[in-house]
Amino acid sequence: MKSKTLLLFGCLVLGACSNQSQQHDPALDAGLLWVKHSAEYPAITKQVYASATQALPRFIDDESWSAVPGQVDAKDLPVAVILDVDETSVSNVDFQLTYERPFANWKLDEWTSGTAATPIAGMKEFVDAASAAGVTVFFVTNRPCEVIEGVDDPCPQKQSTIDDIAEAGVDTDADHVMLSGEQGWNREKSVRRNLIAKTHRVIMLIGDDLVDFVPCTRRKAYAPCTQSATVEYRHAMVDKYAHRWGNGWYILPNPMHGSWTSVVPH
Ligand SMILES: [Mg+2]
Repeated sequence: MKSKTLLLFGCLVLGACSNQSQQHDPALDAGLLWVKHSAEYPAITKQVYASATQALPRFIDDESWSAVPGQVDAKDLPVAVILDVDETSVSNVDFQLTYERPFANWKLDEWTSGTAATPIAGMKEFVDAASAAGVTVFFVTNRPCEVIEGVDDPCPQKQSTIDDIAEAGVDTDADHVMLSGEQGWNREKSVRRNLIAKTHRVIMLIGDDLVDFVPCTRRKAYAPCTQSATVEYRHAMVDKYAHRWGNGWYILPNPMHGSWTSVVPH
């Protein structure tokens, strides 16, 4: 059971399985079913966003506060929060349940472009509260810019991502949505976080993956990272930043996919 489950996750994320093992077996995939059907999942996401909402006034008022390690002397900067997109702002569980294996970015792009986005429960209420309090909301996603044949736009995924967020109830624009592949940005999100921190005091990070908070969390290292992450390293990072969880850093559950799969022992 355990090895079959891990194999399925490998198929989902790495696209490295044979045709036979690519067959989707929902009976094995408790994570997908839990996100799709459990009442506990939206209860948890609402809990996380409610906790973040309650903390907004405290972090806005404390001019010495930043959620980005190393950001100091930011008291004169406008205040911002950074949210991830997939499984943080919008749900892709229906894509995860139905797409034909193996995974490819164009498949997700095609699905998101043709499907009205579903918000993660609690997200819109949080963003509305943050915006009403004068906080700028940035979305940092690793959806990649990829050329589509016959389309002149070098990053058509940018507008489809803005559209998805709008469908989830939040209006945003090109200046506040940052994709992988734009402006030379790679999948290492800390580069984009640090860029935002040059112009804004970032009071919260919200995501569903360690990559949304901590640098260098994948087996494959993207610059400026130079070393592969391991299971032990990732746990050490959670412990190192123990004081930040629920205190400026708000993480949502995602048992379906993520950087954690890159270090799962095979
Ligand atoms: Mg995500």
